[in-house]
Amino acid sequence: MTMHERSIVQQLDDLHSGKYSAVELTRHYLDRIQRHEALNCYITVLEEKALAGANAADSARAEGQNHLLGGIPIAHKDIFCTEGIKTSAGSKMLDSFIAPYDATVVAKLAAAGVVTLGKTNMDEFAMGSSNETSFYGPVRNPWDTTRVPGGSSGGSAAAVAAGLCSAATGTDTGGSIRQPSAHCGITGLKPTYGRISRWGMIAFASSLDQAGPMARTAEDAALLLQVMSGSDSLDSTSLDEPVPDYRADLTRSLEGLRIGLCEDFFATGLEADSEQVIQEAITVFEQLGAKISRVALPHIAQSIPAYYVIAPAEASANLSRFDGIRFGYRCENPSNLEDLYSRSRSEGFGEEVKRRIMIGAFTLSTGYYDAYYRKAQQIRRLIKIDFQTAFEQVDILLGPTSPQPAFKQGEKTDDQVAMYLQDIYTIAGNLAGLPAMSIPAGFSSKLPVGVQLIGNYMQEGRILNAAHQFQQQTDWHLRSPGAVGAGD
Ligand code: GLN
Repeated sequence: MTMHERSIVQQLDDLHSGKYSAVELTRHYLDRIQRHEALNCYITVLEEKALAGANAADSARAEGQNHLLGGIPIAHKDIFCTEGIKTSAGSKMLDSFIAPYDATVVAKLAAAGVVTLGKTNMDEFAMGSSNETSFYGPVRNPWDTTRVPGGSSGGSAAAVAAGLCSAATGTDTGGSIRQPSAHCGITGLKPTYGRISRWGMIAFASSLDQAGPMARTAEDAALLLQVMSGSDSLDSTSLDEPVPDYRADLTRSLEGLRIGLCEDFFATGLEADSEQVIQEAITVFEQLGAKISRVALPHIAQSIPAYYVIAPAEASANLSRFDGIRFGYRCENPSNLEDLYSRSRSEGFGEEVKRRIMIGAFTLSTGYYDAYYRKAQQIRRLIKIDFQTAFEQVDILLGPTSPQPAFKQGEKTDDQVAMYLQDIYTIAGNLAGLPAMSIPAGFSSKLPVGVQLIGNYMQEGRILNAAHQFQQQTDWHLRSPGAVGAGD
């Protein structure tokens, strides 16, 4: 097994026993990043900084300091501010933005000893499901380079799958950690809203955005979550709750665990082979002792329309700061102030972002606010109640992550609604603020398929436990994509 096929937990053992050093591990990834540049996973590669960090990690280890993630090379989605380093959010608007401080997530991981390899490609301002809205070009799926990796955290997902980092950070507003994780065959977790600080994470829709880990195994995700979580005085929406030891619970037996199948997820639109994969996953959970029942989430179908009112409304407010003066790209030779605003924004933002700003400004305007925004908030409440009712009967919910595996590049770029429907199974989790994860569970025509596990508030430990036990019985998470050559 080559270095990049080892999980973080195994790499930590290897580093500890001196099998290889952090510098060797980092060089291995830097070399792979260069060789697989065509996947376009990274916007920025930090070769010098990474090697310096790896050196420091090796010295710290030699001195007997044991950092939780000492010497582990990871990548950050380019939506997290990184001090002194370009932070673009996948947009021309921020192409020349050098962040003046670190996001809390970045600072916490750095304090735990990670080596930062670089910043990953993403849909512009995290708006998209295919990574095709990035100013830096699309990311290719390492399982089939003619296909999308999913989005918006597609660069992170493809980089983990292709062995171009040990793990990566992502953000999820409507599915952007889970859907690309499913499409790339990796493990991704979106925690409870507020579990992880949003400080320094460029805002898309503030009441929905949440950061999370993207890794090869549930155990690695638990380790990363441990470091990333916690309350933060810089983010008033971060939850003031203690951070449990997520790894301690992984080995718990699933005997008697009540799993609810969201029957509304299976009603329409789920591809037959993907459904087969989900059914087989259910059998594995049954063999592990779980009790399966069916639960209803009757308002799921309304989650997409509600989201596409709420998310653009918040985005239109959040993105008003990019005006060419305080932040962001400024047009050449403006003739007056109005021209400066209007051309900076029309030249700096891509099409999808502009579409969302316009929808958001419209739904928030007088006369339309009650008809759209208020209605969407009411639906959001009904969806929350659906979940609360379901969690009175079961411990976790199970369903597909995505209606079908990774689609072809360009296949859905002309059909916004088809693209928006990609998140039909993930968006409700954001509207309710619940923790949810995607784990690899099989293949459909040689493309990875993910199973989604949704937990009640603050029950990250429970879904991680279920995911870990599943991964002890299956090896889907250990498969390597063909495009990067097994073991090469
Ligand atoms: N695909 C959804 C959107 O385009 C969700 C994106 C996300 O979670 N950041 O808004």
